[in-house]
Amino acid sequence: MPVYKADALVLRTYKLGEADRIVVFMTRDRGKKRGVAKGARRPRSRYMGALEPLTRGEVAYFEREQRDLVQLNYLDPVRSPLLAQSGDALGYVGYFAELLDEWAPEAHADERLFRLGASMVDAIAGGAPIEKLARYFEYWLLRLQGVYPALSCVDCAGTLLGGAVMPPRAHLFVCDRCAPGGGGTEISSGAVRFLAAAGSAAPERLESLGLTAAASRELETAHRRLINLHLEKELKSARVLREMRHAR
Ligand SMILES: [Zn+2]
Repeated sequence: MPVYKADALVLRTYKLGEADRIVVFMTRDRGKKRGVAKGARRPRSRYMGALEPLTRGEVAYFEREQRDLVQLNYLDPVRSPLLAQSGDALGYVGYFAELLDEWAPEAHADERLFRLGASMVDAIAGGAPIEKLARYFEYWLLRLQGVYPALSCVDCAGTLLGGAVMPPRAHLFVCDRCAPGGGGTEISSGAVRFLAAAGSAAPERLESLGLTAAASRELETAHRRLINLHLEKELKSARVLREMRHAR
């Protein structure tokens, strides 16, 4: 049985039997896998602290014939989101991991998605402003999947820099001049400028991009509509984040 070694991101885990865990992880080179971490729930397990969602590490595993589950040999963490200083950031870790889990393809590699996920772990561990990072991540994730609408007006092809609207039941943008009225998700010019800048900025440069709390809310709503449309459901972790905010 060949042993594979890979650069991997932990997405989630769940219990198996008395002492084990199943680990869902995304590899850089062979897509998403599910593996058994033997004894992971025992005290002093060698997996202690290595299986938190969004941990990046080197994993070694082997595949068993005609089984969907691989067997983990080890998972050596190289970067953990637990390095984040703020409790707020930790609240988002599950959300980022759930989004990656939903979009990571089984059994074939998506190098760009892996790199996006890995850069988010680095940014979280490095103390990046978390709300801004979440909007950046959503934008790039949806873009990589080819489902982010064009940043120009679908009616007149003009710029959105004066502000835009995502009309009800439509998942695209119209400029403020062509907006039909009757509601929809309003996107202020500040939010549009953030998107335009985020499209060419590395996550380490987030500090230099402006995004007010109000503009972040606008994008959060628009992104949630896009995510729910394409996943045909609302993510549990997204709901939890909203509830946490309302409870403050
Ligand atoms: Zn227009």
